[in-house]
Amino acid sequence: MDALDDLDRRITGCRACPRLVDWREEVARTKRAAFADQTYWGRPVPGFGPPDARLLIVGLAPAAHGGNRTGRMFTGDRSGDVLYQALYDVGLASQPTSVAADDGQELYGVRVTAPVHCAPPANRPTPGERETCRAWLVRELGLLRPTVRALVVLGAFGWQATLPALREAGWAVPRPRPPFAHGTRVALDGLDVFGCFHVSQRNTFTGRLTPAMLRDVLTTAAGAAGLTR
Ligand code: SF4
Repeated sequence: MDALDDLDRRITGCRACPRLVDWREEVARTKRAAFADQTYWGRPVPGFGPPDARLLIVGLAPAAHGGNRTGRMFTGDRSGDVLYQALYDVGLASQPTSVAADDGQELYGVRVTAPVHCAPPANRPTPGERETCRAWLVRELGLLRPTVRALVVLGAFGWQATLPALREAGWAVPRPRPPFAHGTRVALDGLDVFGCFHVSQRNTFTGRLTPAMLRDVLTTAAGAAGLTR
């Protein structure tokens, strides 16, 4: 088992945030009617993708009936449908859909993670929960450091969590911290950090984030990471 596998395994056993532990387990017990015959994961959802990823995508937190059900980031919900379709379109994923942990999906040089690994009520972790979970992101960044060359951060929440984690992991992040904006690009030592609107339904249904906008950011970030397919 490599170090990242070991980290992922330890994340799945974390119970540091009582509110989130209660919520993720309650959702797994009560389920959504459409998934009543399924066994929910109901635990922290680790990152997904190869341990030598050159590009890291950082979201917000797993969805109650998405990642919290399937056990894989952005898998089994509408946000994930948008993200994986775009990753497939730009040649970074083997399949345009991501529906279950055993669906054969493979990411090429890309890893997907979140600054909060447990599904929160109303998709809103508290700042305290974000702080608590940051330790996991710092460790993940540290393990990816030899290979990772670009980050795409989805949304302002992820941005606020990721820049301090990068600093803690050893990158020189400017002070004051650069603000989040869609399309922003911050060059750190050996790492380009891109801001992108989150792939939430609130953004994709309203056209605030279109598939073309997402593909553009991913393509630019993949180029910065040296991923050419
Ligand atoms: S959100 Fe993070 S720190 Fe909190 S219980 Fe889940 S994995 Fe642990």
